[in-house]
Amino acid sequence: MITVRRPRFSPTRLEMYLTCPRAYHCYYDRGLRWGRLTPAHALGGSLHRALQHFHNAGGPRNQDVNALLAAYRASWVGASYATAADAAAHFAAGEAALRAYYEAARLKERETLWTERTLQYRYPEFVLFGKIDRLDRLPTGELEVVDYKSGRLAVSEEEVRTSLPLAVYQLLAARTYPSCPVRVAIYCLRTGESASVLRSPQELEAVEAGVCRTALTVLEDDEKEPTPGPACAACPFTRLCPEGRRYLADHTSAPAPSAAGWDPRPRGAANNGGGLRAADG
Ligand code: SF4
Repeated sequence: MITVRRPRFSPTRLEMYLTCPRAYHCYYDRGLRWGRLTPAHALGGSLHRALQHFHNAGGPRNQDVNALLAAYRASWVGASYATAADAAAHFAAGEAALRAYYEAARLKERETLWTERTLQYRYPEFVLFGKIDRLDRLPTGELEVVDYKSGRLAVSEEEVRTSLPLAVYQLLAARTYPSCPVRVAIYCLRTGESASVLRSPQELEAVEAGVCRTALTVLEDDEKEPTPGPACAACPFTRLCPEGRRYLADHTSAPAPSAAGWDPRPRGAANNGGGLRAADG
């Protein structure tokens, strides 16, 4: 019997399509990739791995701050920093963030159920999936999906509510744990600031309807026409896209962004692990 694999959609894929179908085509259909590991991505990855190790080992209940910092040192990736001084400054910033994280985690009455896990939900035409940083059980009995941000200093409830990836994470958790209300939160690692949102079942259904509508549109769209706009300024595919270059020429006095760093090899052929590559497929 032949099994047909259903297409898979992550929030990153959906967001890229909504931003520009042509960029989606370049990245996902043609498999083009670009970029190098940036300091921000390298630091974020080191922090994520340290926190994953820390929580897997029991978190603040049976780990002290030194154990967390040891996990950070073991997770540190020194590549991508321009100089040793730059690497040291990023390392120190990460260490300060983790010390503050530990103090906040120690005082919070919540249970971390797991970290760094991919959830998925199967719809008839596709599979929706997303990688979640952390899932907690709150004293109220609610669950909370926590998304770490290593670059941000502050966040509002509105920003959480309007984020497509966070809405998808919340939807996936709600479908996986249907007996519990599920909140979703952003946690800014550098400041400890956070904001959390609870959606009603009706609001989650609206999110689900929007996600399904977008995924089905992608599946039916054979043309993937470009939609030039402000996103062109940061798009790595301008060299392949006359419409985007025209938009930039009409809307900016500066020359179109250079293609430096762009790597037209199919995904998997290049040997670095970061840059602007989609986070979860
Ligand atoms: S340059 Fe603009 S229009 Fe062209 S693919 Fe990129 S985002 Fe889309």
